[in-house]
Amino acid sequence: MDISVIWFDLDNTLYPASSGLLDAIDVRINEFIATTFAMPIEQTPALRKTLYEEYGATLLGLHKKYNTSYEDYVTYVYALDPADYIKPDPSVRDTLMSLPQRKIIFSNSNADHVARVCGHLNIADCFSYKFCLDRDFAVKPDPRAYKKVANAVGCTFGESLLVDDVDRNLAGGKRMGMRTLKVDEMLEGNGYDCIGHIKELPRYLAEMNNPGASSEVS
Ligand SMILES: [Mg+2]
Repeated sequence: MDISVIWFDLDNTLYPASSGLLDAIDVRINEFIATTFAMPIEQTPALRKTLYEEYGATLLGLHKKYNTSYEDYVTYVYALDPADYIKPDPSVRDTLMSLPQRKIIFSNSNADHVARVCGHLNIADCFSYKFCLDRDFAVKPDPRAYKKVANAVGCTFGESLLVDDVDRNLAGGKRMGMRTLKVDEMLEGNGYDCIGHIKELPRYLAEMNNPGASSEVS
């Protein structure tokens, strides 16, 4: 079946991981936990690892196990200006606008952060639907997140392509029956089809629809 809906992750997918924005968010998560639990910041990665393994996401674990406030967490963790990290890259908008498929955002970040980054990249109007972190705490790779999006958008997994930089999110999509494509600057696909930058997506889709026609140039 042809791809008619493309699900885009946002962070480290529509802008490069080397921008450092997600690394900065990561530091703020550690700071938030250190402050909340009055714990040395060096000890926060161990707590995060436990929560991640037990609940699948740090915030979900903080909320369920320690009743941490969703608002307090997202307000602190995402209080960053994307312009301080991400260089303007008109090729992202040009690429998205060139694609005839329906395009949606499928992000584990909160809606304010998604809006700020999309605004900075001038791509907010490229998507017909944006899935973000909310109080349901259903995030990738929880199957509930994928089903929620498919229901909201009215599409099947078979007609969907998931574009993401994280293996476990791609694995979640694959389990649902989606086609998957990894974005990784270092081209470390780990078994997934992989491109280094989102601007390579149109060529990837063309080759998917016409396999073998131009594989020698890839
Ligand atoms: Mg990502």
